[in-house]
Amino acid sequence: MPARVEHLSVFLCPPFQLQIILELFILNGLTPICPYCGNFSSKVTGKEIYPHRPDLFHKAFYQCAPCDAYVGCHPGTDKPLGRLADAELRRWKSIAHAAFDPIWKARFERKRQVDQKYRKHHARGGRYKRLAELLGIPSKECHIGIFDVTLCKRVYTLCKSGALED
Ligand SMILES: [Zn+2]
Repeated sequence: MPARVEHLSVFLCPPFQLQIILELFILNGLTPICPYCGNFSSKVTGKEIYPHRPDLFHKAFYQCAPCDAYVGCHPGTDKPLGRLADAELRRWKSIAHAAFDPIWKARFERKRQVDQKYRKHHARGGRYKRLAELLGIPSKECHIGIFDVTLCKRVYTLCKSGALED
């Protein structure tokens, strides 16, 4: 197993393709590479990431400690939710969610008033679809969890512009 991946061009591919590559790493018994330094990450538990959150100790994470980068896994699996995120990316993902989530939640409340069958996933899915159109990316690639800093900043700007409110 190589100790280090010498070039990080793999991280230039679209988020959805990157997700497939990350899953291939896992299938082949490797851990995802850290997009900041190129070293393989370590599989750890929530105890290493959130020492003050015993409720998260059972969860699996991939971590690059020197870069302070990590990513969680899909519940009950060792499949990463996306690429490893450093402090800046984690901050921007949280900013993007803070701007985007109230929009679909408000839409849900509004539509729910007139249609009892309307569900949260309808509102969230519909706004993600619109977001994908505005970002010019395919819907299946449109999840804040797998975005990079640039896309997160665009999400924030679009949300604040009112473009997602129609
Ligand atoms: Zn690293």
